[in-house]
Amino acid sequence: MKPMLDLKKQYLTIKDEIIESVNEVLESAHYVLGKKGAALEEKVRAYHGMQEAIGVASGTDALHLAVRALGIGRGDEVITTPFTFFATAEAIMYVGATPVFVDVEPDTCNLDPNQIEAKITKKTKAILPVHIFGHPADMDEIVRIAEKHELPVVEDCAQSFGASLHGKKTGSFGAAGCFSFYPSKNLGGYGDGGMLALNNADMAADIRKLRNHGSRGGYRHECLGYNSRLDEIQAAILFIKMKHIDEYNRKRREKASLYTKLLADAVACPVEKPGAFHVYNQYTIQSPQRDRIQQALKESGIPSVVYYPIPLHMQEAMQPYGYREGDFPVSERAARAVLSLPMYPELESVDIEETAAVIRRCLG
Ligand SMILES: *Cc1c(COP(=O)(O)O)cnc(C)c1O
Repeated sequence: MKPMLDLKKQYLTIKDEIIESVNEVLESAHYVLGKKGAALEEKVRAYHGMQEAIGVASGTDALHLAVRALGIGRGDEVITTPFTFFATAEAIMYVGATPVFVDVEPDTCNLDPNQIEAKITKKTKAILPVHIFGHPADMDEIVRIAEKHELPVVEDCAQSFGASLHGKKTGSFGAAGCFSFYPSKNLGGYGDGGMLALNNADMAADIRKLRNHGSRGGYRHECLGYNSRLDEIQAAILFIKMKHIDEYNRKRREKASLYTKLLADAVACPVEKPGAFHVYNQYTIQSPQRDRIQQALKESGIPSVVYYPIPLHMQEAMQPYGYREGDFPVSERAARAVLSLPMYPELESVDIEETAAVIRRCLG
């Protein structure tokens, strides 16, 4: 079986830089909250044109701490999408708030802004869009609605590092942009990691405390916090990968356009809305023949993955909220039709051609 993404291949292209950077950390003997983490925060902050960036232990923690720092808690509601990875909802549930789902657009699979206002109540405390697969959500509309109702926006940018809308980067639209550096993300470390980008100094100070046991140092604890720091070794790796992120995203876009050229008349290919800059964390097609396509690919040694087979409202863990099958028909249809194909910057054109040929043959 070929790989969905070949992390080793990428590693070999930057091996010397990575080893040197990691070695600096090893030699420094400073492994948590040191210079590399601060340097990475500065790089990510500047890249997004934000005032603050804060490294944390994972993308999930970035979302959780953003929701916490906004003072959201028991009895509150947060509007989000059911078509995402479970962590998006977990962040809301950790603080005791309720994820209130709004269905998605059929083409991008992102939160459908036309359905948001109907779900806003007195209990709504934030809107949490996800830039799924690397395509920016419709932030023009989402921010407009949020401002009208005086609600903060928290962006789940776990799949969208470097994506933008009208030249503005995802993660820079709302109260906080939340990033994941899980290895398979388009900016991935060699372990877990995450970051927040924000423009509010008070909120940033709170999050810096929360990630460090409620402490600014000196064993003084001002509040209940967490152990959620980005370690120096991950920061050293990500610092190097940050130098290449625009090139990696450009290459993903090239691979995506080749896939689309070869597949556009056979399946529904990912779209790129006007003004959007898609970074293709996943290249995800949709077809009613999805299972047949996946089987044909498997028989040819080509992997593919269904992100995501079960929308969040139908997950067992969500039962207490009382959602039902049929509540979010677009998400449910997407869950039956989506298939993500191999995608990474070093993917070869011949592999894309072969994958496309297998799909076309299977659909006859
Ligand atoms: C990966 C992911 C997360 C969680 O990030 P971790 O770093 O794995 O905790 C959250 N939301 C989405 C959409 C993701 O893809």
